[in-house]
Amino acid sequence: MKVGVACANEKVDFNQFLSGIPAKDYVFQEAMYEEQIKEAAKLLSEADAVLIGAGAGLSTAAGLAYGGKRFTDHFGEFIEKYGSMYMRDMYSAGFYPFPTEEAKWGYWSRHAYLNRIEPDALPLYQSVYELVKRKPHFVLTTNVDHQFWKAGFSDENIFATQGDYGKIQCKKGCHVKTYDAVDLFTQMQQAVEDCQVPSHMVPKCPVCGGEMAMHLRCDQYFVEDEHWHEAAGHYASFLEEYGQDKVVLLELGVGFNTPTIIRFPFEQMVRRNENWSLIRLNLEEAFVPESFGKRAVGIGEDIAKSISDITRGVEENVIQ
Ligand SMILES: [Zn+2]
Repeated sequence: MKVGVACANEKVDFNQFLSGIPAKDYVFQEAMYEEQIKEAAKLLSEADAVLIGAGAGLSTAAGLAYGGKRFTDHFGEFIEKYGSMYMRDMYSAGFYPFPTEEAKWGYWSRHAYLNRIEPDALPLYQSVYELVKRKPHFVLTTNVDHQFWKAGFSDENIFATQGDYGKIQCKKGCHVKTYDAVDLFTQMQQAVEDCQVPSHMVPKCPVCGGEMAMHLRCDQYFVEDEHWHEAAGHYASFLEEYGQDKVVLLELGVGFNTPTIIRFPFEQMVRRNENWSLIRLNLEEAFVPESFGKRAVGIGEDIAKSISDITRGVEENVIQ
């Protein structure tokens, strides 16, 4: 199940895409869970700064499941209208070729409302914030559900590279601007009938008059606006400022949907900086390069449990 950008991305097989690291170097660490938690807590306790990399697995672990009951409860009429073949979960539903703009926004306004607008800060995101807030930190994320902001992270410490469910843009990217759509989606939700919004609510590009789209990176028209570039700059500054220090890269639920944004660059940075280390929390894909030795911990448990246990470990380190 994928949470995050509901757009087509080719799945990359880690055996074939090597990021400069031989595939045979990847190992599932054999250390016991408790040992790994201790190692992770030690790395974080000694860190000068923490760089978080967060992907779909974090939001899934936090409760924003895209399938199952959460999907059928909220999208029953869509499943009935378009068929359960296509409406399997919120990920596949996003690819449905909606026949009209009214139908497209009928679906996406609900998707955005459910995953971006309605939920408060989820406890797991808040726990991550509590874990790192006392140290300099930065968040690089492919998630588009706005949870890092809700959990308390400052805007200048977040770079969400793939967009935001709360924004829309010109479908053809004819001008470099995004538009806040939180109020629009909320109103649409009250007006939806037969899975469609009324025609007068369909947004139009204020420049070219064409169709609008969700602000999600799914084709070459994704708009990187002023705020996006600011955030990219903040990320670059963070890397430069702490380049010589002890930095822990805390990778949360990053799989192989878009590994070139977080997963592979994180490994490359750890390889290049001997003061840097990697904590990889991932339910199924927690393998790490063996050559990193003690500088990598890969924990294949539920992320919420791991974060809670690591937090306890860090607290114990403070007391000692
Ligand atoms: Zn336009």
